[in-house]
Amino acid sequence: MTSRKQFDVVVVGAGIVGLAHAYHAHQRGRTVAVIEQNDRAAGASVRNFGHACITAQSDLALGFARAGRDHWLELSRRAGFWSAETGTHAIARHDDELAVMHEFAAARGPDDARVLNRSEILDRVPAGRTGVVGGMYLPADLQVDPRTAAPAIARWLEFVGVQFFWHTSAISFEPGLVRTSRGDIGADTTFITVNHDIDRLFPDVTDDLALQRCALHMMKAVVPLRFPLATPLFTGWSLLRYSGFDDLPSTTRVAERLHRTYPEYTAIDLHQMYTPQPDGTLLIGDTHIRELSTSPFQSEDGFDVLLEVTKELFDVTTIDVVERWQGVYSTAPGREFLLREPLPGTHIVTVTTGIGMTTSMGLALSSVEKALGATAAVA
Ligand SMILES: Cc1cc2nc3c(=O)[nH]c(=O)nc-3n(C[C@H](O)[C@H](O)[C@H](O)COP(=O)(O)OP(=O)(O)OC[C@H]3O[C@@H](n4cnc5c(N)ncnc54)[C@H](O)[C@@H]3O)c2cc1C
Repeated sequence: MTSRKQFDVVVVGAGIVGLAHAYHAHQRGRTVAVIEQNDRAAGASVRNFGHACITAQSDLALGFARAGRDHWLELSRRAGFWSAETGTHAIARHDDELAVMHEFAAARGPDDARVLNRSEILDRVPAGRTGVVGGMYLPADLQVDPRTAAPAIARWLEFVGVQFFWHTSAISFEPGLVRTSRGDIGADTTFITVNHDIDRLFPDVTDDLALQRCALHMMKAVVPLRFPLATPLFTGWSLLRYSGFDDLPSTTRVAERLHRTYPEYTAIDLHQMYTPQPDGTLLIGDTHIRELSTSPFQSEDGFDVLLEVTKELFDVTTIDVVERWQGVYSTAPGREFLLREPLPGTHIVTVTTGIGMTTSMGLALSSVEKALGATAAVA
């Protein structure tokens, strides 16, 4: 950068949260720039399940998730990445899990959740038959391709006039100014959407919240299923993961039983779930290890557990692992979002648990409307 550039809106971080802010700001006719330290999106936004897990959220997150649903579908159409209105299936392998599903469906109604009996779930999900007692279908959930969604949105935003500064790090902030590794950029409004790296830019804010990095084991594999899995799949562990299930009477029973029966899975904070990919593979995950700095040494134990529980669930003896990787997102006790304005016009927007794909579009809509006003969107 030779002379100082000036934009209405500068977004720091080209993950899905940053791209969603750039999208909504651009929709409001603002000049927008995105600053990203890597040469492409390479953070949590390309390492996840691609599951817009709308229904299992509660409160603020549920509002963001619902508000973002149509924007995901619109962006999929405009930017040209794969998405599907599949809904989510959940399989119950114990009566207490089915009890949670009945309670959830009763609380939410049939547009959100439908309980399935044993033969219905086994007709829809290619699980082994042993121990299955029923299931649930959440019709409103979406899937996107996590590998291509963020890169495609970035390409499309660039095409419609958003300026990207790739391989450029934001270093510090002043009102109306972002100092970067390639010079200063003027910004009327700045959104800092750098996920867990927010602790490198605003340690005073994150120390107070005990923000950490959460590292996850993930794999992509070919599993010889009795028929293809058509939707994301939750297990009993999922009922302990999402806030929508938190206050149901039977959730504690599921937690107590799973933790008592599987202490070794509890130690790695297992969440057994799956998303089918358009190429026929399954994304399989995950585990959760929370530390301030993520260890570079990823134990095989987490992958072994994922393979073991997957073989048992689908009643298969072989799994052909195509890729293994570590995902990282920010986590803070008892909190799903970190939203602050540390300087006038400079907004921190961080999703502090693993729901950024689900909530990013609606979260960004809310923070852009608050910062820029709820002006009508341009076509
Ligand atoms: C394994 C895994 C599975 C998950 N599954 C799901 C799921 O199925 N559904 C769901 O809703 N959520 C899921 N999540 C969570 C979701 O992926 C994240 O919440 C979301 O991607 C966070 O988006 P982000 O844009 O904040 O972060 P990121 O995608 O990490 O982007 C942050 C960007 O900021 C950049 N950056 C950092 N510092 C600077 C700087 N100083 N200057 C410039 N750039 C900077 C980084 O390089 C990075 O590109 C999952 C997460 C993981 C890890």
